Amino acid sequence: MRKLLIAANWKMYKTPTESTAFLTSFFPLVKNIETAEIVLCPAMTSLTALVDAARGKSVCVGAQTMHWLNEGAYTGETSPTMLTAIGATHVLIGHSERRQYFNETDTTVNLKLKSALAHGLVPIVCVGEHLNEREQNLTADVLNLQVSVALEGIDAAALAPLVIAYEPVWAIGTGRTATPEIAEDAHKIIRTKIASIAGSDVANATRILYGGSVKPDNARSLCCLDDIDGALVGGASLEPTSFSQIIANAT
Ligand code: PGA
Repeated sequence: MRKLLIAANWKMYKTPTESTAFLTSFFPLVKNIETAEIVLCPAMTSLTALVDAARGKSVCVGAQTMHWLNEGAYTGETSPTMLTAIGATHVLIGHSERRQYFNETDTTVNLKLKSALAHGLVPIVCVGEHLNEREQNLTADVLNLQVSVALEGIDAAALAPLVIAYEPVWAIGTGRTATPEIAEDAHKIIRTKIASIAGSDVANATRILYGGSVKPDNARSLCCLDDIDGALVGGASLEPTSFSQIIANAT
């Protein structure tokens, strides 16, 4: 059985004080927290405060990106060693906003995935098609390419922690959610591709999250599906009430 994973992507929102205030309001609201893995991905500047505030609680803290190298002359970057040193356990890789605004490619996703696995970080690799690609029936091609380049050169045995987030770009921050059928189809494509690369054991163990305008009222219909193992939530994760409702409805 794959454990449900619900992750919050806070993007460029919340100071350290606002991040820890979220936790103070959030904990009394959540029940069933043990039945899912809950991961909060704040801005880099809030990681330490959130790790400290979440210590001993059933919440993990992850980064929204990282460099693949351990150190070097890369102004503005953060390394995997720096993340593990402050207690981050997860990392988002290749979010569509990183691809769109910061030139991340399938190749850098592959480098980051290898590095995250080597450093014991749980990688959440984001994939998803643009609207024009869906309209041209290219969704399967896009997902197959993104997944195959991401996994290139990685031993099946190393892939146990892998998490994929299917986030159709047209659904991110738009209020337009994929229907459960569209999401389930895409998740099947991704799982089949993983199976063809790394074998069915790895594919069956890999959690595939859905992301893109997940809200309290659609979390249940998405997360109850066979191939959907949780959610990556942006906007609706910023408020403790809506994020806790998503968790309640998804579990
Ligand atoms: P959204 O963002 O929930 O606001 O659509 C999802 C994401 O970017 O991960």
